[in-house]
Amino acid sequence: MTSPDPAAGPPYCRHCGEPEAARDHSDCELAGFHDAPRFCPQCAATTRLQTTPLGTVAQCADHGQVRP
Ligand SMILES: [Zn+2]
Ligand SMILES: [Zn+2]
Repeated sequence: MTSPDPAAGPPYCRHCGEPEAARDHSDCELAGFHDAPRFCPQCAATTRLQTTPLGTVAQCADHGQVRP
């Protein structure tokens, strides 16, 4: 059992949902730079997207708003 280390960042890529450690996700960051996160970085669940006057907000059912 290893507890999550906050300093290491979230465990999952918020654009493709794969583990951050699996590969380099800098291409995801570039491709998703203008998009709302599609996956929760904490649990990799698909986020629910809500369009607001301020932009698109991504919500995880368990973790709430996913920051872009
Ligand atoms: Zn990715
Ligand atoms: Zn979540």
